[in-house]
Amino acid sequence: MNSYNSFKSMLLAGTLLLSAGSAFGWGQKGHDVTAAIAEKHLTKAAQDSVKKILKGKSLVYYANWPDNAAHTDEYAFSKTWHYKNIDADQTYESAPNIPEGNIISAINQQAAILDNPRSTEHEKWLALVFVTHFMGDLHQPMHMGRAVDRGGNNHKIKYFGGDTNLHSIWDSKLVESAHKWGYTEWVEQIDRTGCAERCAILAQGNPDKWGKETYEIAKQVYEQTPEGTNVGFDYIAEWTPVIENQFLRGGLRLADLLNSIFDSEYVQKNTVIAPKNTKPGCCDGTEASAVPLEADK
Ligand SMILES: [Zn+2]
Ligand SMILES: [Zn+2]
Repeated sequence: MNSYNSFKSMLLAGTLLLSAGSAFGWGQKGHDVTAAIAEKHLTKAAQDSVKKILKGKSLVYYANWPDNAAHTDEYAFSKTWHYKNIDADQTYESAPNIPEGNIISAINQQAAILDNPRSTEHEKWLALVFVTHFMGDLHQPMHMGRAVDRGGNNHKIKYFGGDTNLHSIWDSKLVESAHKWGYTEWVEQIDRTGCAERCAILAQGNPDKWGKETYEIAKQVYEQTPEGTNVGFDYIAEWTPVIENQFLRGGLRLADLLNSIFDSEYVQKNTVIAPKNTKPGCCDGTEASAVPLEADK
């Protein structure tokens, strides 16, 4: 290969990576933040299990892996697991479930694999990495976007005058314009909730409820961003708190799910798997003051 051709193939690889990022989920920052928040809220038992399954690596280390893997033959089966589409003439409930599986069925299925003591080491590794990633995507409004425009990918808009699409700005451009922070700074700044707020975010949730909540945001996004909109500072200012909250929800809910799978002492809030522990905990009103939490001091 001459140097011109190798330069061209480098460009192509770069373009493919960029388009992969824009089509498959929160950009890297969103996944890193979600995973890092979750990691902060894991109990000791859950931390130990995660460490064992990931062979010492962190949730953040693998948070983006499924976006790249979806483009390989080996993991092409997971392409549709990053989203659920709901068209304008459908409701969340009436939107068809595609046979290949969507983000809701994927999280439920992978959580069950992670919770199954008979799963192999590799199955658990894959399930943990998938769940970590999909819990992030579940909170990206354009991953609950319309089928007709491929989750906003074909919804043409402008970003400070430049051509782009609605999906792409929600995956990364808005996030990167909201704050010039690395993922640890994001976590430090947005994960400052007290017990009551955390409990409201976690209350009796499951992937379907969380997906529907994200879909309600997606509807507002479509309403406020018709094709041809030129997104600028006003738009970024308006939606930044929503992005912050979606990252926080994803991270706390992922932690709650992993704690409930890996820690038999943990009082879980989600209903994804059957509870292992029925003791009252931090979110059960009368017990709130029994659990000293840093943010409540
Ligand atoms: Zn994704
Ligand atoms: Zn995306």
